[in-house]
Amino acid sequence: MENVYFDYAATTPVDERVVEAMLPFFSERFGNANALYSLGRDAHRGLEEYRERFAAAIGAKKPDEVLFTGAGTESDNAALIGILPRIAKGGGAHLIVSAYEHHAILEPAHWLEKRGYDVTYLKPRSDGHIHADDLAAAMQENTKLVSIMHGNNEIGALNDIKALAEVAHAGGALMHTDAAQTLGKAAFDVGVLGVDAASFSAHKIYGPKGVGGMYLKAGTRFDPLLKGGGQEFKKRSGTQNLAGVVGFTVALELMLADQDTEMPRLAVLRDRLIEGITSQLENTEATAQGGERLPNIAPLLIKGVEGEAMLLQLDNRGIAVSTGSACSSGSLEPSHVLLSCGIPQEVAHGSLRLSLGRQTTDAHVDYFLEVFPPIVERLRAMSPVYTRMFGSS
Ligand SMILES: *Cc1c(COP(=O)(O)O)cnc(C)c1O
Repeated sequence: MENVYFDYAATTPVDERVVEAMLPFFSERFGNANALYSLGRDAHRGLEEYRERFAAAIGAKKPDEVLFTGAGTESDNAALIGILPRIAKGGGAHLIVSAYEHHAILEPAHWLEKRGYDVTYLKPRSDGHIHADDLAAAMQENTKLVSIMHGNNEIGALNDIKALAEVAHAGGALMHTDAAQTLGKAAFDVGVLGVDAASFSAHKIYGPKGVGGMYLKAGTRFDPLLKGGGQEFKKRSGTQNLAGVVGFTVALELMLADQDTEMPRLAVLRDRLIEGITSQLENTEATAQGGERLPNIAPLLIKGVEGEAMLLQLDNRGIAVSTGSACSSGSLEPSHVLLSCGIPQEVAHGSLRLSLGRQTTDAHVDYFLEVFPPIVERLRAMSPVYTRMFGSS
């Protein structure tokens, strides 16, 4: 078998129906949505129609609470850098983010920290979740903003954002959540969750790359990251990527249309993968299996083997996987996500993340379960680390 893709949490192929919906906006309907002649007005109508549909899909009260951006990364940066300095009004302010956020949150948090803001990096418990009690304990008098991801991209833990937002609000802070991994896969409604801001990314849900979304609750004070022509209600300048907006919206609607059948289907495949590997191979486990989880992520720890070595061997057999947070691949540092969950450095090196999606079948799982154990046995036989940890294999 060739081309078995187990890296849907990194990116997804664009759905054909999404491409089809986008096509007219590259040609007949190519107008600039800000131009006043009829071609521009048509583009503007298209933009606002899809914005309304997007807003409805996330439970926003008003369409203008949805901003389209150039990436999930941009939305995350804008949420931190656009909100905190604005509400801090020059005085010191405290920001709380979780320690296992995507780098698109951690890096702007570091950037703010260097500029004098006080930042707490809140750790998950060993179950992989950020607990409301722990957030309450971390709140300070000058905490102005809390940003905690909805679903973690590496271990799949789903956080109780509603409970966390209540704690943030009780302490007088605004609440942002990075929902790039959860939008379309888990129940997500800004009203139900009670968030002030949220970030989304199209290419994680069979939409195009280079399109992000941001929810910004009406009345939230915000300084735009991109300044210019004043598009997106003066909150994000730059001529709108209308084809991208259309593709993102249709991709989201397609996710919601079959969420109730597709997510349980993926959860069954995920559980088969996890059980198959942990029962066939000793000294392996899945991370953070307690509580609410995304249905499509299998976070495996294969002790005493390097994740990169497994990844390359699997690639030789046509299987694409990740070793953990995509942005840390290429470096030999173990994932900050696993370390934040209290997993020892030596164990964290053996991380392998399989993420499933629309094209994943039982046959793909069978193939993985056939190919993977001998790869691990071979690598372990050559691994001084494994021998030191467990004796000879
Ligand atoms: C992918 C991802 C992002 C970044 O989105 P891009 O559109 O790739 O910039 C941010 N946060 C999480 C949790 C993600 O999975």
